Amino acid sequence: MKSNSAGINRRNALRMMGAGSAAGLLGLFGSFGAHAAPRETPGYARGMPPLKIKSVKAIGTAPQGANLVIVKVETTEPGLYGIGCATFTQRAEVVVTAINSYMGDFCVGKDVDNIEDMWQSFFVSSYWRNGPVLNNAISGLDQALWDIKGKRAGMPVYQLLGGKSRFAVDAYAHADGKTPEEVADHVQKYMDQGFRYVRIQQGGYGSLYLAQQPDFKDAGFGMPTDDFMDSNAYVQAVPKLFKEVRKRCGEDVDLLHDTHERVQPVDMINMCKRLEEYNPYWIEDPVTPENMEWFKQLRASTTVPFAMGELFNNPNEFVGAMANHYFDYIRCHISQVGGITPAMKIARLGEFFNVKSGWHGPGDVSPVGHAAHCHIDLAIWNFGVQESVDFSDKLAEVFPGSPQLKKGYLYVNEAPGLGVDINETVAAKYPINNHAGKWTLRKRDGTIIRP
Ligand code: MG
Repeated sequence: MKSNSAGINRRNALRMMGAGSAAGLLGLFGSFGAHAAPRETPGYARGMPPLKIKSVKAIGTAPQGANLVIVKVETTEPGLYGIGCATFTQRAEVVVTAINSYMGDFCVGKDVDNIEDMWQSFFVSSYWRNGPVLNNAISGLDQALWDIKGKRAGMPVYQLLGGKSRFAVDAYAHADGKTPEEVADHVQKYMDQGFRYVRIQQGGYGSLYLAQQPDFKDAGFGMPTDDFMDSNAYVQAVPKLFKEVRKRCGEDVDLLHDTHERVQPVDMINMCKRLEEYNPYWIEDPVTPENMEWFKQLRASTTVPFAMGELFNNPNEFVGAMANHYFDYIRCHISQVGGITPAMKIARLGEFFNVKSGWHGPGDVSPVGHAAHCHIDLAIWNFGVQESVDFSDKLAEVFPGSPQLKKGYLYVNEAPGLGVDINETVAAKYPINNHAGKWTLRKRDGTIIRP
């Protein structure tokens, strides 16, 4: 039997189909027309050309006093780069060293597109892992690669994460004051600006000003600058604070409070039971990470919602806690757990356990990091609320394109990538400092309180 070229082509095509090459099959049948005009491949089908990492460096800057660390990744395409937040503000110089001494050597020449592969390989490249220094360094790299991918695709990063689940990011503001009345006035001011969520603290974390002259200072123990906290005064003050704010500001505002892990678990249970009637949105970090087992008693004793995880380094710390429904909101510092890639995994895990997001977003997260929060917040279904700060003009000059706060909502700009840039010339005017940080807090007898 005489064969012809079409028959050969069909047999070849069937072999290819057997090998699972549908694209090849379509291509072959598409060529049967002897006089078909050659068609140009449409832009969407061309894919992206290979692109390599050319350099990686750290940029430290402190426009408002708090150390911020940024990773800048340059590519082999002239002018195409990405930036990411690597801010471990208390030990910024160590992160800068990790990036400049090790990350460039590891990354240069590698493909910019394979973010997961880069994350996994750098994560184990030092063998020991999950510390705050290297996790922040890898976060800077990770966010910068997402920034580059968005720029290459011509899309904001939230589009690459699945598109918007909401039009903007509902944010909370910080109200403080020395008396409950002062705090209530502050809350009302934010409500008038359009905020629906406000965190309330009386005299900062632990209400230190309520403590009297501590005995350890009289005894010459510790340093004169060490702080003193009276736990009993604090746990008695918080319910009175909530009562006054509810009385003055009503029920149409969600109230949050951060305990900063500073009291004993049993004292926390008793305090939270007294807060139930004021309907808090969340109580943050009720115990230290060393006391996770106490959540069983907390959950059994009170219906107050909890946010937890600010001090978590290892994303695995969320797994058992979520499976046991220990808390309601994910409170981790995105750069501390390693960037957008692990944060998305934690967020998606939370969806299955009805745990929502509440990323840590104070002034010692760079605007690049805040943008990363917002892109995730826009995309995930199980969003809770986002901590916000109002960026100063000084900060906005260093980081053009920072997220905008309007009527209690955060908006990212629609530029491709994370949407934020860094002006390195201006950033250099504000060098980082090496202050060890003022986290020495003691009981009356001088015992250290964590943190
Ligand atoms: Mg906190």
